[in-house]
Amino acid sequence: LQRRPFIAGNWKLNLDPKETSAHASKLREALQGQDIVDVAVFPTALSIPAAIVELRASGVLVGIQDAHYHAQGAFTGTNSFTMARTAGCAMGLIGHSERRSLFHDTNPITSLKIQSCLSSGLQPVLCVGETLEQRNNGAAVQIVQEQLRSALEGLEPDQLSSLILAYEPVWAIGTGVVATPDQAQDMHREIREWLSNNSPAHVSNQTRILYGGSVKPNNAGDLLRCKDIDGALVGGASLSVDAFNAIIQVASEFAGR
Ligand code: PEP
Repeated sequence: LQRRPFIAGNWKLNLDPKETSAHASKLREALQGQDIVDVAVFPTALSIPAAIVELRASGVLVGIQDAHYHAQGAFTGTNSFTMARTAGCAMGLIGHSERRSLFHDTNPITSLKIQSCLSSGLQPVLCVGETLEQRNNGAAVQIVQEQLRSALEGLEPDQLSSLILAYEPVWAIGTGVVATPDQAQDMHREIREWLSNNSPAHVSNQTRILYGGSVKPNNAGDLLRCKDIDGALVGGASLSVDAFNAIIQVASEFAGR
């Protein structure tokens, strides 16, 4: 990997505060001394404080899984990136396919969230990816490019350079059907090419693009070996400290290559 590897765990709606304390403490122990791979976890909002307490001195970053694009106000039932920052988060996960499909996060809403996340001082992880139908119709690249264009339009180069991107084909998320290394690498190359056409060269060279969708310890190596895959966004397997740690170890083997 030319860029510093990044492995992130999306815990989704799992691990309550008590379970988070136990899980995060086990993760901290497993990762002691590990300084080759950047690691982040995204607990559910109620479990963020527990994760932060356990992971404070570990180097593992904690992020929020989505938030409203307003910093505060009459928006019952949600959170803001600004408050996540105050609570100790370092990152925001934005545009996940579950947000797009279950909670109507359109491209314009995703764009507002990116801007809010950036202005709150959190590092955004922007997820993009096509459905199976879109892939079968030959529209995958076009869909991903439109998601990028819409979410990133108007950002300054220094804002773009703080972003992490995650390519997550919808058909691979939580299905056990992982993209082949060629399918993933082809889309990661397209994403980097899009960046190089829409930002200064240092941004496209430095931006880390993660692959997400059924990453497990036994398929991580074949994916992370690819030139433009700089890490992984891991859902199901991040709920096992052993599996998540094993993926981090695989990423560390590819660091600097
Ligand atoms: C995800 O939710 O971002 C994800 C990639 O899930 P899974 O690893 O379970 O496919």
